[in-house]
Amino acid sequence: MDGCIFCKIAAGDIPSDIMYQDDEFVAFRDIDPQAPLHGVLVPRAHVATLADLADEGLAGRYLQAAAKAARAMGVEASGYRVVVNYGPDGGQLVMHVHMHILGGRALGWPPG
Ligand code: AMP
Ligand code: ZN
Repeated sequence: MDGCIFCKIAAGDIPSDIMYQDDEFVAFRDIDPQAPLHGVLVPRAHVATLADLADEGLAGRYLQAAAKAARAMGVEASGYRVVVNYGPDGGQLVMHVHMHILGGRALGWPPG
Protein backbone atom coordinates (compact mmCIF):
# COMPACT_ATOMS: atom_id res chain seq x y z
CA MET A 1 0.00 0.00 0.00
CA ASP A 2 1.30 3.45 -0.90
CA GLY A 3 2.91 5.22 2.02
CA CYS A 4 3.18 2.12 4.22
CA ILE A 5 6.68 1.74 5.64
CA PHE A 6 6.40 -2.02 6.20
CA CYS A 7 5.15 -2.57 2.64
CA LYS A 8 8.24 -0.69 1.47
CA ILE A 9 10.56 -2.75 3.67
CA ALA A 10 8.91 -6.01 2.50
CA ALA A 11 9.37 -4.91 -1.12
CA GLY A 12 13.03 -4.00 -0.51
CA ASP A 13 12.41 -0.31 -1.26
CA ILE A 14 13.65 0.66 2.21
CA PRO A 15 16.79 -1.11 3.45
CA SER A 16 16.48 -3.43 6.44
CA ASP A 17 18.37 -6.24 8.11
CA ILE A 18 16.39 -9.27 6.94
CA MET A 19 16.31 -12.10 9.50
CA TYR A 20 13.89 -14.44 7.68
CA GLN A 21 11.88 -14.37 4.49
CA ASP A 22 9.73 -16.58 2.32
CA ASP A 23 7.17 -16.02 -0.43
CA GLU A 24 4.60 -14.47 1.87
CA PHE A 25 6.43 -13.10 4.93
CA VAL A 26 9.50 -11.06 5.86
CA ALA A 27 11.15 -10.67 9.27
CA PHE A 28 13.57 -7.78 9.72
CA ARG A 29 15.54 -6.47 12.70
CA ASP A 30 13.65 -3.87 14.75
CA ILE A 31 15.39 -0.48 14.66
CA ASP A 32 14.58 0.03 18.35
CA PRO A 33 15.24 -3.45 19.77
CA GLN A 34 13.63 -4.36 23.08
CA ALA A 35 15.69 -7.54 23.46
CA PRO A 36 19.08 -8.72 22.13
CA LEU A 37 17.22 -10.35 19.23
CA HIS A 38 14.11 -8.48 18.10
CA GLY A 39 12.56 -9.26 14.74
CA VAL A 40 9.45 -7.75 13.14
CA LEU A 41 7.57 -10.31 11.04
CA VAL A 42 5.15 -8.95 8.43
CA PRO A 43 3.08 -10.40 5.61
CA ARG A 44 4.25 -9.06 2.25
CA ALA A 45 0.61 -8.25 1.46
CA HIS A 46 -0.72 -5.19 3.22
CA VAL A 47 -3.04 -6.03 6.13
CA ALA A 48 -3.54 -3.20 8.62
CA THR A 49 -4.15 -4.95 11.93
CA LEU A 50 -4.69 -8.35 13.52
CA ALA A 51 -8.44 -7.71 13.28
CA ASP A 52 -8.12 -7.36 9.50
CA LEU A 53 -6.36 -10.71 9.08
CA ALA A 54 -9.49 -12.31 7.61
CA ASP A 55 -7.78 -14.95 5.43
CA GLU A 56 -7.57 -18.02 7.68
CA GLY A 57 -4.97 -19.66 5.48
CA LEU A 58 -2.74 -16.62 5.61
CA ALA A 59 -3.27 -16.34 9.37
CA GLY A 60 -2.23 -19.94 9.90
CA ARG A 61 0.84 -19.64 7.71
CA TYR A 62 1.72 -16.40 9.47
CA LEU A 63 1.89 -18.18 12.83
CA GLN A 64 3.96 -20.96 11.30
CA ALA A 65 6.26 -18.32 9.81
CA ALA A 66 6.79 -16.89 13.31
CA ALA A 67 8.22 -20.23 14.44
CA LYS A 68 10.38 -20.43 11.30
CA ALA A 69 11.63 -16.88 11.81
CA ALA A 70 12.47 -17.59 15.45
CA ARG A 71 14.42 -20.66 14.33
CA ALA A 72 16.28 -18.55 11.76
CA MET A 73 17.02 -15.96 14.46
CA GLY A 74 18.64 -18.70 16.55
CA VAL A 75 16.30 -18.48 19.54
CA GLU A 76 14.36 -21.71 19.18
CA ALA A 77 16.40 -23.52 21.85
CA SER A 78 16.62 -20.63 24.31
CA GLY A 79 13.04 -19.50 23.81
CA TYR A 80 11.30 -16.38 22.63
CA ARG A 81 8.10 -14.36 22.78
CA VAL A 82 5.74 -13.42 19.95
CA VAL A 83 3.75 -10.20 20.44
CA VAL A 84 1.13 -8.48 18.31
CA ASN A 85 0.22 -4.99 19.46
CA TYR A 86 -3.27 -3.73 18.66
CA GLY A 87 -5.04 -0.46 19.29
CA PRO A 88 -4.22 2.39 21.67
CA ASP A 89 -3.78 0.23 24.78
CA GLY A 90 -1.77 -2.38 22.89
CA GLY A 91 0.41 0.30 21.38
CA GLN A 92 0.26 -0.49 17.64
CA LEU A 93 2.05 2.39 15.93
CA VAL A 94 2.60 1.01 12.42
CA MET A 95 -0.64 0.14 10.64
CA HIS A 96 0.66 -2.94 8.82
CA VAL A 97 0.14 -5.99 10.98
CA HIS A 98 3.37 -7.29 12.52
CA MET A 99 4.54 -9.83 15.05
CA HIS A 100 7.38 -8.86 17.32
CA ILE A 101 9.68 -11.84 17.91
CA LEU A 102 11.77 -11.21 21.01
CA GLY A 103 14.56 -13.36 22.42
CA GLY A 104 18.16 -13.54 23.51
CA ARG A 105 17.44 -12.91 27.20
CA ALA A 106 14.92 -14.05 29.81
CA LEU A 107 11.82 -11.93 29.29
CA GLY A 108 9.85 -10.51 32.20
CA TRP A 109 6.17 -11.16 32.80
CA PRO A 110 3.79 -9.40 32.81
CA PRO A 111 4.87 -7.05 30.04
CA GLY A 112 4.77 -3.34 30.82
P1 AMP B 1 4.26 -1.31 17.10
O1 AMP B 1 4.36 -0.36 18.25
O2 AMP B 1 3.81 -2.67 17.51
O3 AMP B 1 3.47 -0.75 15.95
O4 AMP B 1 5.74 -1.55 16.64
C1 AMP B 1 6.33 -0.97 15.51
C2 AMP B 1 7.77 -1.42 15.55
O5 AMP B 1 8.35 -1.14 14.30
C3 AMP B 1 8.61 -0.71 16.62
O6 AMP B 1 9.21 -1.69 17.45
C4 AMP B 1 9.63 0.08 15.79
O7 AMP B 1 10.89 0.13 16.42
C5 AMP B 1 9.67 -0.74 14.51
N1 AMP B 1 10.08 -0.01 13.32
C6 AMP B 1 9.54 1.14 12.84
N2 AMP B 1 10.15 1.50 11.72
C7 AMP B 1 11.10 0.58 11.46
C8 AMP B 1 12.08 0.40 10.44
N3 AMP B 1 12.22 1.27 9.42
N4 AMP B 1 12.90 -0.68 10.49
C9 AMP B 1 12.78 -1.55 11.51
N5 AMP B 1 11.87 -1.45 12.50
C10 AMP B 1 11.05 -0.39 12.48
ZN1 ZN C 1 1.72 -2.16 4.41
